[in-house]
Amino acid sequence: MNQIKVLDHGLVRLVDSMGSDLSIVRAARVSYDAAWRAGEDKGSDARLINYLWKNGHTSPFESVTFTFEVKAPIFVLRQWMRHRTWSFNEVSARYTELPNEMYLPDVFRKQSKSNKQGSDGELDSRANKRVHDSFYVAMDILSGVYNMAIDDGVARELARIILPVATYSHMFCTVDLLNLLKFITLRSHNHAQYEIQVYADAMLKLIEPIVPEAVKAWKKSSGDWAKYQEWLTTNKG
Ligand SMILES: Cc1cc2nc3c(=O)[nH]c(=O)nc-3n(C[C@H](O)[C@H](O)[C@H](O)COP(=O)(O)OP(=O)(O)OC[C@H]3O[C@@H](n4cnc5c(N)ncnc54)[C@H](O)[C@@H]3O)c2cc1C
Repeated sequence: MNQIKVLDHGLVRLVDSMGSDLSIVRAARVSYDAAWRAGEDKGSDARLINYLWKNGHTSPFESVTFTFEVKAPIFVLRQWMRHRTWSFNEVSARYTELPNEMYLPDVFRKQSKSNKQGSDGELDSRANKRVHDSFYVAMDILSGVYNMAIDDGVARELARIILPVATYSHMFCTVDLLNLLKFITLRSHNHAQYEIQVYADAMLKLIEPIVPEAVKAWKKSSGDWAKYQEWLTTNKG
């Protein structure tokens, strides 16, 4: 399994990877010039990976890299691209027409009263149907106008400006394991928007068979490490 479907038309596919748990211990053991053992002592490798993560010795985790294919709504990719350590290549809507695919949730969440950025609970079924049906009609009109503009000869680079951020786009992106785990820490957290959480969760599932000990260490102590980072920020100087 190297592909997971998310949302209504989205997906994450693990296209390529370099390295494994062994790459992490090999990179770490050069510090004390130790011969690296080709995985014959899994117990000590696991302990070392756990120690490294727990104590923030993170550079060995950069020796593993992943490339993903991602299909996601533009508003999700906009959040994703704030993560500067990734390399991205995205479909060009100047070059090619975007397919008429837009994200339309079945269930609309309500604005949270306590968290200005977040949602809390769901609309009641009557309001949900009204909003859902209105969004459906509006999206249908917008994609119709886009297609009409293309048929009338409008340049793709201008026709696209009518499309909403719910429109699906498509990218390939590459990241090392350390920065992927940082991404997952932030974006699978319940403070992140649900629509990006599902992508972070999917990537974690896809990489787990390749770096099981690193994922185990992250699951066990990412909280400690996040607290350590917070401590560093508040105590600097
Ligand atoms: C729940 C949530 C809400 C958010 N809300 C907003 C919002 O309202 N508005 C908004 O603009 N953004 C928002 N963001 C984006 C957020 O501010 C970060 O830009 C984003 O999460 C990327 O984090 P990062 O810089 O740690 O990741 P990356 O850019 O991937 O960087 C990974 C790590 O590399 C290091 N690094 C990378 N670049 C530098 C650098 N130039 N200098 C020093 N170290 C660097 C840091 O250690 C960093 O943690 C939100 C993010 C989350 C998760």
